[in-house]
Amino acid sequence: MAEVVLTGVGKTYAGGVTAVTDVEFTVPDGAFCVLVGPSGCGKSTLLRMIAGLETITTGTVLIGGRVVNAVEPAERDIAMVFQNYALYPHMSVYDNMAYGLRNRGTPKAEIETRVREAARVLELGELLARKPRQLSGGQRQRVAMGRAIVRKPQVFLFDEPLSNLDAKLRVQMRVEIRRLQRSLATTSVYVTHDQLEAMTLADMLVVMNKGRVEQIGAPLDLYRRP
Ligand code: ADP
Ligand code: ADP
Repeated sequence: MAEVVLTGVGKTYAGGVTAVTDVEFTVPDGAFCVLVGPSGCGKSTLLRMIAGLETITTGTVLIGGRVVNAVEPAERDIAMVFQNYALYPHMSVYDNMAYGLRNRGTPKAEIETRVREAARVLELGELLARKPRQLSGGQRQRVAMGRAIVRKPQVFLFDEPLSNLDAKLRVQMRVEIRRLQRSLATTSVYVTHDQLEAMTLADMLVVMNKGRVEQIGAPLDLYRRP
C-alpha cells in the first residue's frame, strides 16, 4: 500500500491542448479515490500521469514517497485495469492472470498460489482453462481485475473499467469491486464519468471539470452540500 500525492499537476499536450491544470490532492494509504467528471475533463490524462504512462508538464506525482517518473516502468508497483480488458485472446484465463508474474520471474508455485487465490475471490475458479472468447463480458472484466490483483501492487488504477458492460452487470460489478477493495485495502484511483458509480465506490471523490478539480470530499459530504 502507498499514499498517492499530487502537487500542482498539469498537462499540456504537444498540440497545445491543456488537459489538466494545477491538480492537488492526496489519496491516503488504502483509500479508494474516484475521479469523476464529464467526458474530456482530463480524467484519463490525470490517471495516465499517475501511472507514469504520460509525461507530466508541471508538478509532481509521488507514490509511496517516490516520484513516479523517476522510477523505471518495470519497477513501478502499479496495476491498471482498462475498459477494453486488454486480455490476451490466445491465452487461457490462468495464463492471462499469470503472465505479469511470469515476466517478473515469480516462482511457479507462488504464481499458482496467487492465481488460485485471485480466482477464488473473483469466482473464476471453474474458468481457468477457458479462453477470453469463451467468457461473458463480466467474466472478462473479472479476469482483467484478477490480473491486477495477482501482482499485489501498491496501487490499483482503473480507467472506466465497467463502461463496456450492460447496466445490470455494471451494478453487480460495482458491488464486487467494493467488496474486493474492502478485503484488499489497496490504494486505488478509479476514473468514471458515471456519478452513481462514483458515489457507490468512493471513499474519496474528486470532481473534475475542464481540467481542474472542482470538489474533493467523501461522497456523502459532497452530496449533502447545497
Ligand atoms: P476524460 O478522460 O475526462 O474524457 P481526457 O483526459 O481523455 O479526458 O482528455 C482531456 C483533454 O485532453 C481533451 O480535450 C482531449 O481532447 C485532450 N487529449 C487527450 N489525449 C490527448 C492527446 N494524446 N493529444 C492531444 N490531446 C489530448
Ligand atoms: P508452463 O510453465 O509450460 O506454462 P504450466 O504448468 O504453468 O506450464 O501450465 C501449463 C498450462 O496449464 C497453462 O497453459 C495453463 O493454461 C494451464 N494451467 C496451469 N496451472 C493451472 C491451474 N492451476 N489451473 C488451470 N490451468 C492451469
